[in-house]
Amino acid sequence: MSDATHSDDPCLKAFAVMQAFLHNELDEVDADLVRAHLDACEACLSSFDIEGAITALVRRCQPPQRAPQGLRMQIMGLTIHKSPGA
Ligand SMILES: [Zn+2]
Repeated sequence: MSDATHSDDPCLKAFAVMQAFLHNELDEVDADLVRAHLDACEACLSSFDIEGAITALVRRCQPPQRAPQGLRMQIMGLTIHKSPGA
C-alpha cells in the first residue's frame, strides 16, 4: 500500500485505504480494521458515508469528478437506500 499506511494517525490510515475499502478491494483483515475504526470514529464514519455515496453516484453517470459542495449537501440530506443487486 502507500506510505500513508506508515502513519501513526488512525484516521490517516483509514483515509489511505478508503477508496479500496469502498470498492471492496481490501482483504478481510484490512477491511475489518477500517470497520473497527469507523465504529469508533464518528468523523471518519460521516466522511466515509459521504464519499461512498458520491462514489456510487459518479460510477453511475460521469467520469470521476469532485462533487460540488451543493451535491454533497444534498447527499448528506438523503436517505440512501441500498437494494440487493443494485
Ligand atoms: Zn477517524
